[in-house]
Amino acid sequence: MTRAGIVTVVGKPNAGKSTFLNRVVGQKLSIVSAKPQSTRDRIVGIVTEGDTQMIVFDTPGLLNPRYALHRAMRGTALEALTDADVILYLADAADGPAPSLAEAAELALPPRAPVIMVYNKLDTIDADRRMRLAKSTPGARFISALTGEGVSDLVEEARVALPESPFLYDADDVSTQTLRFFAAELVRESALEQLDEEVPYSLACEIEEFRETRTPVYIRAVLYVERETQKHILIGAKGARIKEIGRSARVKIEALIEQKVYLDLWVKVLPNWRKNSGALARFGYRIPEEKKSR
Ligand code: GDP
Ligand code: MG
Repeated sequence: MTRAGIVTVVGKPNAGKSTFLNRVVGQKLSIVSAKPQSTRDRIVGIVTEGDTQMIVFDTPGLLNPRYALHRAMRGTALEALTDADVILYLADAADGPAPSLAEAAELALPPRAPVIMVYNKLDTIDADRRMRLAKSTPGARFISALTGEGVSDLVEEARVALPESPFLYDADDVSTQTLRFFAAELVRESALEQLDEEVPYSLACEIEEFRETRTPVYIRAVLYVERETQKHILIGAKGARIKEIGRSARVKIEALIEQKVYLDLWVKVLPNWRKNSGALARFGYRIPEEKKSR
């Protein structure tokens, strides 16, 4: 008898969802950033251990949608809730007691799947605080996605909530996404690391070419921003910043694909792409059907 199913990780931006996914999968699949909203898509990690296969969805934060990109992000998170066999609702322990998932996500109905309340960043709070949180939220789990504390117990609780099923993917698979997708995410992560304030939200990355047959592997990537001023910030004085972004991204992509890479990195302006559904689709952000008609 085997088990297989979907474990959806939800929570506010910055709760540590991507860090958790990477820890569980044992590979850096999802970009992690102190800047909220770094995860825009549904990132899928696959973990096969013994008789169990977990398909873990990392989701963008549940936000109040203000523009098309937000709507796409929230839509993606809600879809992942519907698909779930078990839901891990992550909250930052340092923020104090979290509202229920239905409240936080403004859901009309509670989700079908069981919800496990998880306080993350256990390493940042003292024992007193933990006790108070445990009292206010009976049954909550405490973990540190960063150090790994509590993670295996939580994974075990999630495991037994999964249905009996044959494996849905190859036991060797770690994700359903392509290398191209991960390369774009790593370029975006490197750019996020070098920037602050406003620009991060305006960043998108498109891989225009990915030639695995060449040595080194040739990748042409374009970072899109919304304004000329942002382009200048990204490029930096005498191109110093874009050069550093490219270097950092190349090292990460090389580690991922275990091959030498030549990264040809460009910056282009695409005005207001976040409000433009054509551009969103091009960057791979799915706009949920119900919102399209509005
Ligand atoms: P997401 O927006 O929910 O995906 O959050 P991320 O995984 O991107 O993490 C947001 C920030 O919190 C990053 O700076 C992480 O390094 C940090 N973080 C995540 N988990 C932990 C944890 O258990 N302890 C501490 N101290 N920091 C964490
Ligand atoms: Mg994330």
